[in-house]
Amino acid sequence: MRGECHLLAQSFDKALEDGRAAFKKCAENIGACILCGKAAVKLGMYADALTYFRAGLLIEPKNVVITQELKTLQKVILKKDPDLEVKLVQAAYECLSCDEQSKALTIISKAVEMDPTNLFYRTFRAQVYFNLKNWAKVIQDYWVIPKAQRKPDVWKQGGKALMELWLPVLAEFWLRKATQLSGGKDEEAAHLFQKVRVKRLYDPLTEDQPVVVEFTEFGRAVFAERDIAKGETVMTDLPMVMAQSVVSRNIPACFNCAVSLITPQIYFGKRLAGFDKDQRALIEECWPNVDIVYCPYCNMETYCSKICRQEAWDNYHSIICPRENPKGHLLYELIKNDGYGYTKDGQWKELWGGHYR
Ligand SMILES: [Zn+2]
Ligand SMILES: [Zn+2]
Repeated sequence: MRGECHLLAQSFDKALEDGRAAFKKCAENIGACILCGKAAVKLGMYADALTYFRAGLLIEPKNVVITQELKTLQKVILKKDPDLEVKLVQAAYECLSCDEQSKALTIISKAVEMDPTNLFYRTFRAQVYFNLKNWAKVIQDYWVIPKAQRKPDVWKQGGKALMELWLPVLAEFWLRKATQLSGGKDEEAAHLFQKVRVKRLYDPLTEDQPVVVEFTEFGRAVFAERDIAKGETVMTDLPMVMAQSVVSRNIPACFNCAVSLITPQIYFGKRLAGFDKDQRALIEECWPNVDIVYCPYCNMETYCSKICRQEAWDNYHSIICPRENPKGHLLYELIKNDGYGYTKDGQWKELWGGHYR
């Protein structure tokens, strides 16, 4: 009460003194915070004023008086020193060059407070938060920047922070943006994208297994975490989609599981007849016995076993088997002719150019 009177009587230092005493007695006293803040402003102690107002907002986050006072304070500071923000940024840069990250953070945070819409300050602060490994804060600052204005580096660094927070789907999105915006030139972003994706897809598969799958500079790689016994299953993975590559497309394979269906007769051709007894015995011993199974209705698909035939039937072949679906034969014709076929007006041309090369 006395402090308020001092304030009205313009005895600002006395008002501040009383306010401080009240604040010391009870830290939850919002009136004391406001009193101290107002008095500090009048005394030109802006940093102190900010501290008191902030303490007040902790007690009551949307206090109308404090919000108003903060706005006024901002104007007062700017009026007093229109270059203050620039100076703050300079000071923050200096701190960074001396590796004084926490100090840089305090300074740049003041600039952000003065102009929360300034995207440069946000980016700057996110960088400092990144150096301090405060990943969630990195994202909070970058999030304020509208998507269309995020530069490739922002997407990339955000992606890295999201990786640390292990939010893989978001991280992939951010890293892909970084790669796209750099026109594919940012190899680090592209590499990190694969790294997150491989970890996201393979970690659940290898959780209880003695291996981990990682993306390296050579591509996906499986690393053993302990010695693995011969014949031990370390990971089971089913592909979403599977097809033979252009190079291997003429090698007979199971349509369902892709196991090779190549026989010694196909592989060696006429040369097989010229082999001596020992060589033939060796082939007999080492070459897996291949019993090709066909779709009994169309003969278009080959399988390694009846099990695979059934699986293929249940999963897709019953929909495209020409016996079930007369249009299905067009698809198999296309496969047989390497993607070529007749157009409606009778031209022979490549109709399916989607080969993976
Ligand atoms: Zn098979
Ligand atoms: Zn069929």
